[in-house]
Amino acid sequence: MTEKKKLIAGNWKMNGTLEANDALVRAVVAGIKDAKCTVAVCVPAPYFAQVQMLKSGSALELGAQDVSQHTQGAYTGEVSAPMLREFGVRYAIVGHSERRQYHGETDALVAEKAKTALANGITPIVCVGETLADRESGKTEEVVKRQMAAVIHTNGHCISEIVVAYEPVWAIGTGKTATPEQAQEVHALLRKQLAAATAHAERVNILYGGSMNAGNAASLLAQPDIDGGLIGGASLKAADFLTIVAAA
Ligand code: PGA
Repeated sequence: MTEKKKLIAGNWKMNGTLEANDALVRAVVAGIKDAKCTVAVCVPAPYFAQVQMLKSGSALELGAQDVSQHTQGAYTGEVSAPMLREFGVRYAIVGHSERRQYHGETDALVAEKAKTALANGITPIVCVGETLADRESGKTEEVVKRQMAAVIHTNGHCISEIVVAYEPVWAIGTGKTATPEQAQEVHALLRKQLAAATAHAERVNILYGGSMNAGNAASLLAQPDIDGGLIGGASLKAADFLTIVAAA
């Protein structure tokens, strides 16, 4: 069996301008020519066309930061998976903690979004993770398992086609990273949970996210169950992002 490639995905969040994106994507495209891992950038929807054009002919993959659970119709403000496909989008983040927190996304909705993405040829990057209060009260395992269980339940045998991102909420944008051991512990239990649902759990990329940066990426990515990273802040600086890519 060929070894599974790691995945380094940038999550730009609500950042970018036409001018800044141009410089950033050109630098990333130039910098990933010899990358051993898969590299993606998840950009705001208005920039799909721009980034699709800038990345053409390169190995850089395009991602979205959300996707509707519906494919068409009277859903004002939503963007559908078939629309993403038209712009060459390969990945869609679903259930990011910022969507769960600010937009009230439930485990069930996140699971539906993952299902719609898969049905339309988009790989969902399903985010799970505990809050600081969860961790301090010893509920980390319970919370991430509950979030993951909903996605497994709704997606059945397709579950091996998803990407998972473990993002402890307390580490996102805070500069506080989970230690490699803390992250590995959760990744291992997620792998075990997937293995109970599919014979192909080893195939699933389980990414770590939460203040991953140029300095800490290598030690996190060296863990046996950490198959890549979902990178927020550090994905906006080409040099930092490329250092993480090189570590993968
Ligand atoms: P961060 O964000 O790297 O800025 O912590 C990660 C994420 O929210 O996906």
